[in-house]
Amino acid sequence: MKIPKHPTLIRRFLQARQKQLHAKSPVLAASLVTLRRTCGNPNCRCARGHKHLGHYLTWKVKAKTHTAYVPIELVPQAKLWTQEHRRLKQLVHQITQLSLALIQTHVTAQRRRRGRS
Ligand SMILES: [Zn+2]
Repeated sequence: MKIPKHPTLIRRFLQARQKQLHAKSPVLAASLVTLRRTCGNPNCRCARGHKHLGHYLTWKVKAKTHTAYVPIELVPQAKLWTQEHRRLKQLVHQITQLSLALIQTHVTAQRRRRGRS
């Protein structure tokens, strides 16, 4: 996204994004990944290196990574919910940039006005 220079245009960009800023589904701030893991049963073939392939959600809390198993039937849903988080995160990032730009153009305009008098 290229940030426009003119405040009117910045406001227009902002409004368009504000309209999109609502969750269309549950929101999951995590990554959906496939991992090879052992199940803990010492007699299972995974204990001898044939690890189980499964879907997991991973997320970080204070630099520590957490993991949750996702049953295969819930994978499409989990995928959608993590995508929705990415979409909203991107929107918040863009809205932040535009809001900052709006404040900055106001400061520059004020300086210009003060410079003239
Ligand atoms: Zn196993």
